[in-house]
Amino acid sequence: MATIGFIGLGNMGGPMAANLVKAQHHVAGFDLVAKFVSDLTEKGGHAAASTTEAAASADIIVTMLPAGPQVRAVYLGPNGIIANAKKGALLIDCSTIDVETAQAVTAAAKAAGLEMLDAPVSGGTIGAEAGTLTFMVGGEGGSFVRAKPILEAMGRTIVHAGPSGAGQTAKICNNMMLAVAMIGVCEGFALAEKLGLPAQTLFDICKTSTSQSWAMTGYCPVPGPVPAAPSNRGYAAGFTAANMLKDLRLAQQAAGAAAAATPLGAIAANLYQMYVDDGGGPFDFSGIMQFIRREKTN
Ligand code: NAD
Repeated sequence: MATIGFIGLGNMGGPMAANLVKAQHHVAGFDLVAKFVSDLTEKGGHAAASTTEAAASADIIVTMLPAGPQVRAVYLGPNGIIANAKKGALLIDCSTIDVETAQAVTAAAKAAGLEMLDAPVSGGTIGAEAGTLTFMVGGEGGSFVRAKPILEAMGRTIVHAGPSGAGQTAKICNNMMLAVAMIGVCEGFALAEKLGLPAQTLFDICKTSTSQSWAMTGYCPVPGPVPAAPSNRGYAAGFTAANMLKDLRLAQQAAGAAAAATPLGAIAANLYQMYVDDGGGPFDFSGIMQFIRREKTN
């Protein structure tokens, strides 16, 4: 049993922390939203009143925050994790953020005698609840070995991607591919609808055809074929379109810096920008189906 501090108990962090509790770890959680902290205590976790308190007595600190600025805010500065963690603590940031921030925060942790990994995830809220996430981990091999049993309580596939930042590189490539696939699935279902082919019929054919993808069979953007998908609950997130747009921007930023050609990634970023401008930001990223159909989002 490990003593774990968990900061960021939102759509993903909440169920991930609950799975650590289920695995018999002592988990002290903190979030700016008090309700998320009480949700964790109802499941057997403990409440921390601040980042400082969550960090102070933990051997391992896990964070699941929206983006780079929040990660810098929570890790750096006098009230941050790095200034308040025990010597030798292992820090695991599971947020999806830019590679530069991941590497800068890891360097600051190392300078303070702490170990740190970037460990973003794939699998969505369904995977977070089921404990079947994929973790893409960047950092030193020894830290990866130390983190693996903890990550196994929250995920099924734990991959060491390489040095610090490599987890984030894998994640932004994954999400760029996912966004392109999701838009493709939406366009196919929208076209079928206009041509009078029922969604369930298209799904039954395509799930074993060459267009098969997780965006369709795991997270279908039309209601019906995949009951657990957000399309069945008015596109409540899930993984918000705003967060998908954030990741597509990170991918475009990285592609620009590396002179990599990502024309479909650029179009996907533009389409998600239009969907977010249309009011889709808080909805699940699969809600872009409504935008592609030219329906209003709210
Ligand atoms: P979320 O917005 O639901 O959760 C983030 C939580 O962090 C919120 O509850 C917020 O209150 C808390 N927070 C922000 N600043 C804080 C601070 N200073 N101190 C304490 N708590 C703070 O987001 P999410 O969907 O859980 O996503 C978290 C990260 O995981 C993002 O980087 C996202 O891109 C990534 N991700 C999400 C999914 C998904 O399906 N939702 C899938 C894979 C990866």
